[in-house]
Amino acid sequence: MTEKLFLDDSYLNEFEAEILNINEKFIILNKTCFYPKSGGQDCDLGILKRLNDNKEFQIVFTAKINDDVSHEVNELGLNVGDIVTGKINWERRYKLMRLHTAAHLLDAVFQEEGEVLITGNELTYEKGRMGVNLKDFNKEKIESYINKANEIILKDLEVKNYYLKKEEALKIPGIIKLANTAPPDLPVLRITEISGIDIQADGGTHVKSLKEIGKILFLGIENKGKDRKRIYFDVVNNI
Ligand SMILES: [Zn+2]
Repeated sequence: MTEKLFLDDSYLNEFEAEILNINEKFIILNKTCFYPKSGGQDCDLGILKRLNDNKEFQIVFTAKINDDVSHEVNELGLNVGDIVTGKINWERRYKLMRLHTAAHLLDAVFQEEGEVLITGNELTYEKGRMGVNLKDFNKEKIESYINKANEIILKDLEVKNYYLKKEEALKIPGIIKLANTAPPDLPVLRITEISGIDIQADGGTHVKSLKEIGKILFLGIENKGKDRKRIYFDVVNNI
């Protein structure tokens, strides 16, 4: 099983690891800080550099395979047992962290303000997409929710990650946010909490304080049917 360094330190962007397994261009390491595409958050990209000859390989995709993280490289040549240093594209990852924490904040505001079920988030480097099941779906109302989220950002609350036993975690109301989603089949759940605002079982990478989000920018809505209403947003630096 790949040790997932990003779970406990989302700011770590360089590491050394050993190659445990290779299947063509797909590499399994003993540990990694590359976040695999999952839970609505897009994957990290970056480079692997082989220590003995400094040859660099581009990582073009990162996926979750069972309990491992598979790193797809751009060319063949790496071998099992090679020691490599990994470096993630930090600009991309940091934007995804800001979008992910922003999505949790929006989840909390939407749930408090309206009778809404979150049906899934999709976060890419370019923008965030939030799926909601909201009866009264209009632009003005959503804009007002986003303004409210931006007011909360100014309070600069702390964002924490920690672990709870599943039976303890499931006593917390709203810990599983997604509609129609069963809790993960794990004895211990990783929790992401925005102090006093939102608490969710989550495996993603987040900023450690709300101010790092900057400002949430409302891009628009899309109504694709009863259970397929979408809200698009981005995060920008708040200067
Ligand atoms: Zn999340």
